[in-house]
Amino acid sequence: MALPEIAADMSQPGGQGAVTTRFAPSPNGPLHLGHAYAALCAHDFARAHGGRFLLRIEDIDAARSRAEFVDGILADMDWLGLRYDGAVIYQSSRVDRYRHALERLCNLGLIYKCVCTRGDIAAAIRARPVRHGPDGPVYPGLCKGRKVAQDQPYCWRLDMAKAAAMTGELGWNDLSAGAQNADPAQFGDIVLWRKDAPASYHLAATLDDAADGVTHVVRGKDLFAYTAVHIVLQKRLNLLQPVYWHHDLLCDESGEKLAKSRGSAALCALRSAGRDGREIAQILRSGQLPLGISLSGD
Ligand code: GLU
Repeated sequence: MALPEIAADMSQPGGQGAVTTRFAPSPNGPLHLGHAYAALCAHDFARAHGGRFLLRIEDIDAARSRAEFVDGILADMDWLGLRYDGAVIYQSSRVDRYRHALERLCNLGLIYKCVCTRGDIAAAIRARPVRHGPDGPVYPGLCKGRKVAQDQPYCWRLDMAKAAAMTGELGWNDLSAGAQNADPAQFGDIVLWRKDAPASYHLAATLDDAADGVTHVVRGKDLFAYTAVHIVLQKRLNLLQPVYWHHDLLCDESGEKLAKSRGSAALCALRSAGRDGREIAQILRSGQLPLGISLSGD
């Protein structure tokens, strides 16, 4: 694992304090080697710069988050020999903060209520195809400018065209990919507050990174495209923009990234099999990856 260099002008955005990174797993399944790699990148980068490394549990989705997975994450961090600074941060304890930001966006006229079901959206797209963004077909805007009935469940969507039009050109410094242009419009009107759960990942993660003084967002390349959305939110909510390092991903024999849904070996299974977590961490750092696993920058 090669840690990227940071130029003097990219070390501390906005003149913030020490380099601060975070590992932000969602407790909806056991962690696998890909998570261990992400945690190591964020941890080692912070430590290499004498900085802080935070652990944030992204448990905003109560229906999918489970206490046993939180316990597993804490045990895995310990097993890997990764110490984090300060107390563990739980997104579920920050809902008021997310709601307050949503109200600010509402006052700016940048969000709207949407009552569409998946079925409504699919039917609209069948009738009139829409363009595809990084997350699939973009929302066709059925509820934009429409008054929704009070008794219907609704989510809040960002009026992306309006939010993006209020800013000039957007971009970010990526320690792996270099200077990037951000084009949030390609996502269309994303959901910021869900019908079935509070704040979406985009809103919660963006607010938390700012609130916790994260200077360098270190995460996998699978989240690369979302950075454009996070940057437009930073602009609209007057938050400092961190530097990003989107690191390579660990892939299995078929070249697919390791994933809970693909049944990739869980760290807890290695732990119960008596493997030494610190030794595994060293193997991941060295790049001498276990059989069948490779690093992919695609
Ligand atoms: N919670 C996200 C995940 O488990 C990571 C979010 C981030 O690093 O921005 O994939």
